[in-house]
Amino acid sequence: MNHAKKLYIETFGCQMNVNDSETMFALLKDLEYEPTDSPSGADLIILNTCCIRAKAEQKVYSELGRLKGLKRGDRRVLLGVGGCIAQQEGEKLLKRVPYLDLVFGTHSLHLLPEMVRAAEQGERPSQTDFLDPETRLDLFPRKEAEGGVTRFVTVMQGCDNFCSYCIVPYVRGREVSRRSGDILREIREMTSTGVREVTLLGQNVNSYGLKSPDEPDFAGLLRMVAGVDGIERIRFTTSHPKDISPSLIACFAELDKLCGHIHLPAQSGSDRILARMNRGYSWREYLEKIAALKQARPGIQITGDMIVGFPGESEEDFLQTLSLMEEVGYADLFSFIFSARPETAAASLSDSLTRREKQERLDRLQRLQRGMTLERNRSLVGSIQQVLVEGTSRQGGQLFGRTGGNRVVNFPADPSLIGTMAAVRIVDAFPNSLLGEPQ
Ligand code: SF4
Repeated sequence: MNHAKKLYIETFGCQMNVNDSETMFALLKDLEYEPTDSPSGADLIILNTCCIRAKAEQKVYSELGRLKGLKRGDRRVLLGVGGCIAQQEGEKLLKRVPYLDLVFGTHSLHLLPEMVRAAEQGERPSQTDFLDPETRLDLFPRKEAEGGVTRFVTVMQGCDNFCSYCIVPYVRGREVSRRSGDILREIREMTSTGVREVTLLGQNVNSYGLKSPDEPDFAGLLRMVAGVDGIERIRFTTSHPKDISPSLIACFAELDKLCGHIHLPAQSGSDRILARMNRGYSWREYLEKIAALKQARPGIQITGDMIVGFPGESEEDFLQTLSLMEEVGYADLFSFIFSARPETAAASLSDSLTRREKQERLDRLQRLQRGMTLERNRSLVGSIQQVLVEGTSRQGGQLFGRTGGNRVVNFPADPSLIGTMAAVRIVDAFPNSLLGEPQ
């Protein structure tokens, strides 16, 4: 009897990688690999890696060390590395990790089945070439329509911005936007399997279509997606503040389906540091865009990213960051200590702060944000929110879903509500979620 082979994928880093891992599962279905949730017992293990911070990179290497034991057993297990570290290291990885079977970069997903087949035959394939934009568009891997209520849809990949700290343009390549017709086709197919919310995904979605005269810009794309029957909610991530246009801001006033949430990373509140980061905006310009968004969609929830301890950051620069946070009133914030990445401009900047000083600043910033998040969540107590119910919550007997503003709500209700939009009264608020009761 022929048994399906087991595939375990461990995903590191961002949503783009989560999305790519889903694509890998779909691509390898044709080779009769089915998902498993543990590496022990898997026939093929793939680490889909991230190198945006040194810590993420170290995690991958320690995971590779841990998995070495599985390769020593009686059963034949294939081990592959994909994603950003694979792109960065290429064939060197096969030398550095002699028990590794395949390495594939960020532009090579479409080659994965062929590479796995070769690895099954005992070869050790490696592919990390960047594709030219046209070929990339033709080979843009798409996911199968396979259900769930919410799905991510890649609309563009890569980045041309070269923020001085960021490795993405080096490991994901230059910006390329998918054809709008392909995106709409994929979304329409998804609706036939019950998808009601899509999140349009890209490194910098605001620059969607700007290189293609025949394609709409991002605001135009949002309007097209809003016209798809069956789609009730649209989100997008990630946005660059310098590229958020008046027509995109107007979408928040005009498109009911567009959720009242935006992730708009400021990274710092100091103009001196923003210039060193090559971000292309001042704190004042950032706040003007936030004000315009709040005017277009009153109550919009704003989340962001902040880097602490960028080379040269003074106490005054840091205080400006805290003050920008208060001015914006972030619903949530991802914050990190600066991590020097190879090849990037910021890696060569001199850095006078100690690790301890950076950690102390990060603690202060996160303390401030925790207070603001809880306050924001508490302000929703008593309100009735439309919640798209995504599944059963870890708390027994409860369902969970998200508000338009992207806050997670748990509430007791019958599982038949999964996949529907439910009116839920918020009765309590916690740092990471809300508690509700169905109306
Ligand atoms: S916009 Fe800047 S931070 Fe974002 S992916 Fe591009 S280079 Fe990196």
